[in-house]
Amino acid sequence: MTDRANPPPLRAVRIEAKCPICEKRGVPDYRPFCSKRCADIDLGRWLKEGYRVPTDEAPAEGEGAESGSTRQTG
Ligand SMILES: [Zn+2]
Repeated sequence: MTDRANPPPLRAVRIEAKCPICEKRGVPDYRPFCSKRCADIDLGRWLKEGYRVPTDEAPAEGEGAESGSTRQTG
């Protein structure tokens, strides 16, 4: 039983997109953002992450010397 000639009615789902930046209501033009500004902010963040190339990150370099009094036993 396949009645594929009668597709289900596509009901426009009301998506309440919240601006991920300021959590305001998004506008269709900049969905899900509320404005171009917020879109840019998000884009900037995204680009930052994307452009972050894996560099040979050195481990947290400290002074090297461990602070502590060394006792001389002898
Ligand atoms: Zn916003």
